[in-house]
This record gives sequence, C-alpha cells and structure tokens, in this order.
Amino acid sequence: MRFAGITDNDIVDGIDGISVSFWTQGCPFHCPGCHNPETWDFNGGKELPDYYLDSLIEKLTANGIQRNLSILGGEPLCPENEGLIYSICRVVKQELPNTKIILWTGYTMEQLKNRSKTNDPFIGSLLRNYLDVIIDGPYKKDLRDLRLKLRGSSNQRIWKHVKYKLPVLHKNDYHWINIKEENI
Ligand code: SF4
Repeated sequence: MRFAGITDNDIVDGIDGISVSFWTQGCPFHCPGCHNPETWDFNGGKELPDYYLDSLIEKLTANGIQRNLSILGGEPLCPENEGLIYSICRVVKQELPNTKIILWTGYTMEQLKNRSKTNDPFIGSLLRNYLDVIIDGPYKKDLRDLRLKLRGSSNQRIWKHVKYKLPVLHKNDYHWINIKEENI
C-alpha cells in the first residue's frame, strides 16, 4: 500500500487541538485547482512500512498528549484506499477509543450512503462505527472561499456523527447531521 505522508502535530487540518494527519495517495477526481495534485498518482507517494499501525498509535499519544486523527488525500475513500482507511480507523478506535477521526473526501455524503448499500465492504462500517466528522464533496475552484473553516470551496459540507438516536431514522440512514462550521 502507498501513502502520501504523515504530519505528526498538525494544528491546521483538524478540530479540537492537535491532530496527526495521514495523507492518502491516489485520487480519481482530479479537481481543477486542487492544492495537492502530487497525491493523484496511485503509484506515487511512498510505500507504507510494515509497522505503520504501531507507529500511528505512538504518534497519536506521543508525550502523553492525546491527538485526533485527520485523514486527507488524495482520496481516502476510493476503492483503492478504502480498505487501508478502514484498517487504520478500526485499530485506532480499538486502541484509543477517545480519538476523534476527521476525514476529507471528494465523494458526497449521498454517494457514500449509496455505496454503503451495495456490496462495498468498508464504507458502511466506516460511517457507522469509526468516523466522527466528514468534510465531503470535490473541491470546486469557482466556489473557492478562503473564509471557510476546514473547507476549500462552499459546496463542501461538514458532517458530524451523532451518538444519540434521531426520532425518525431510515434503516439505511446513519446518524450523520450536516452542521455549520461554528458548531464543530
Ligand atoms: S478530491 Fe481532493 S485530492 Fe482529489 S483532486 Fe479533488 S481536491 Fe484534490
């Protein structure tokens, strides 16, 4: 498996303090104006070392400080990367259940939910069990807005995984609500 990089102490790409940021390699979207075109090539980046999960857990708790995990790209949830992201999120939540996981994807929430209803083995579990915040949708340079928090363009939305029961819930719907940035 390949990845683009890891930022040990990231105070920009995340919420609530410090994050470890994991950058995936490979993206099928090729959004015009993308800030990270070097992450598009699925053969680019570098090979993940065998010990990457242990190393990630160490980074999340280094010096006794609890960090969150930010997952960016590249595209974390394309078919080439979703298995890796599933493995990472599962282990992180098992070892460090209080870690918040924030993920940026070029897919919309609607597309992810549709994929979760098919034979996709990973997306449904990620939505149900592991991800806490999703920033969705492709970057659109015509909608670029530097005032936005966590997002590059105004079509992108912030979704929060809510832990309480919603009054009416379709069985294929998950507990995700679209929130305004001041409510993160
Ligand atoms: S989805 Fe993200 S990484 Fe991929 S091209 Fe668009 S902005 Fe770049």
